[in-house]
Amino acid sequence: MFNLSRRAFALGASATALSACTPGGEENFVNVYSARHYDADRLLYNAFTEATGVEVRVLPANAEQLLERLRAEGDATEADLVVAADAGNLWRIKDAGLLQNVTTPALEAGVPARLRDPDGAFWGFTKRARVIIYRKDAVRPEEVATYDALATPRFRNQIVMRSSTNTYQLSTLASRIERLGAENARAWAAGVRANFVRDPQGSDTDQIKAVAAGEAQATICNHYYFFRLMQSQDPTDREVVEKVGMIFPDQAGAGTHVNISGAGVTAHAKRRDRAIQLMEYLISDEAQTLLTPLNVEYPIRPEIAPAPGLAELGAFKEEDIPLDALGRHQAEAARIFEEVGWR
Ligand code: FE
Repeated sequence: MFNLSRRAFALGASATALSACTPGGEENFVNVYSARHYDADRLLYNAFTEATGVEVRVLPANAEQLLERLRAEGDATEADLVVAADAGNLWRIKDAGLLQNVTTPALEAGVPARLRDPDGAFWGFTKRARVIIYRKDAVRPEEVATYDALATPRFRNQIVMRSSTNTYQLSTLASRIERLGAENARAWAAGVRANFVRDPQGSDTDQIKAVAAGEAQATICNHYYFFRLMQSQDPTDREVVEKVGMIFPDQAGAGTHVNISGAGVTAHAKRRDRAIQLMEYLISDEAQTLLTPLNVEYPIRPEIAPAPGLAELGAFKEEDIPLDALGRHQAEAARIFEEVGWR
C-alpha cells in the first residue's frame, strides 16, 4: 500500500507533531494514536485537559496504519496510548507485542471482565452491538430475529453486506467460530454470501441506505450508524431511517454480538502514568456520560445510563464470549470469508 519514501516522510512529520519535550522541559502531555475519528473523542480529550492540565496530542490514522507505524517506530515511539474501535484491531496490536499489560483498581472496578483483554493489554470504554437492519415494507421483524435467518433461502438476492476485510465483519464471524466452530461459521458465511444482491461495497451506513432504497431487504451493521442517521441534521438521512427497522439478533439464543472501543498503553510508552490516567478518565462518570450520547455507543460501565434513544430500546441480551476470541479466530475468519467468496 505505502511506498517506503512516503512512509519515511510520514514518520518524520510525526516526530515534529508529537515531539518528546515541551520547551519548558515539563512533560505535561500525552500522545495518543487513535483509529477513532469521532468528534466526540476530541471533546472528551479537551475535557480531560481541563480536568487534569494534561494536553492530549492525537495522531489520527486507521488501525492498520497505527499498527505499521508502531512497528516501524519500535522503542523510539512517542505514542503512549492507542485508541481503536473493535477488539479485533486492538488484539492485532497486542499480538505484535506493541502494547503492555496494565491493571489498576479503577479499571478493574469499571470495566466488566468480558469487555477487556484478559491480560490487561487493552480496556474497553464503550460498547457497540452488531444489529440487523431490515426494510419495514418487505420484512417482518420475526423473519430477522437471528443472524442465521440472513443465510436462509428466504433472503435470496436480498442481502447487502460490507466487505469481509473490515474488522467488524471479521469479529462477527470470529465470535461465531468461538461459539459454534469453524464448520458452522463457514456454512453461515456461505449462506449469506449466496444471498448477496451485489458484491460487498461501502461502509456500514451505505448498507443501511441500500436497504432503505429498496436494493436489498436486510443487512448487518453497528447499531450507532442507524442512530446517527436518525439524529442527522439532513432530512434525507432521517427518511432512510423511517424505511428501516433495527433488530438485536439472537435474543432467544446466544445474544447479539457486542464489541468495544478500547485503549491500551503502548509497550514503549514514555508517559505511562499519563496514559493510564487518560485510560482511567475514559471510564470515569464524566467521560462515560459525555461520550456515550455524542457517539450513541453504549457506556462500558453497566451502571451508567445509555443515551436516551438507546435507553428507550431497553436492555438486550449480549453474546458472552471472551473478547480475545475475536483476535484468536481472526485469521480463520478471513480464510473462511475468502473460501466462500465474501470479498
Ligand atoms: Fe464504526
